[in-house]
Amino acid sequence: MVGTGTTTRREAIMAYDPCDCHAQRFRGKSVYAYPAEISLGQRTGGRVRLCPSGAASFCDWASKHLDEISDGVATTTHEQPVCGLCGELGPTEPVSRLYLTLYPDHKTRHDYSGWACARCATQARSAMLLTFSLAT
Ligand SMILES: [Zn+2]
Ligand SMILES: [Zn+2]
Repeated sequence: MVGTGTTTRREAIMAYDPCDCHAQRFRGKSVYAYPAEISLGQRTGGRVRLCPSGAASFCDWASKHLDEISDGVATTTHEQPVCGLCGELGPTEPVSRLYLTLYPDHKTRHDYSGWACARCATQARSAMLLTFSLAT
């Protein structure tokens, strides 16, 4: 006795695998993001798979807290590193360098980079799903 009779056509058009942002199956195209962090000389990062709404909030977060890079040049420049979350960064504080690459429509590439201070690094990691990409 196998319970396959409950599968509906509605489920069949949904993505087979859950998104990494909500851990739920979703409708529509997935977006891949490549978050990375360099902290104390250690680089961590990976690939995450986003549903359309997760990708939208990811882009939103990135444009608020990170600098967009176009042709290898940051669109906004800071004379000194500034935490993208709280706006502060002491000169001797350990700092996380954040990088993010997004392919919102599978063709155009969007690159972001920024910094996070020690207090905000955890929040930045969870917003960028770095904790997730490490686990896989
Ligand atoms: Zn999602
Ligand atoms: Zn901060």
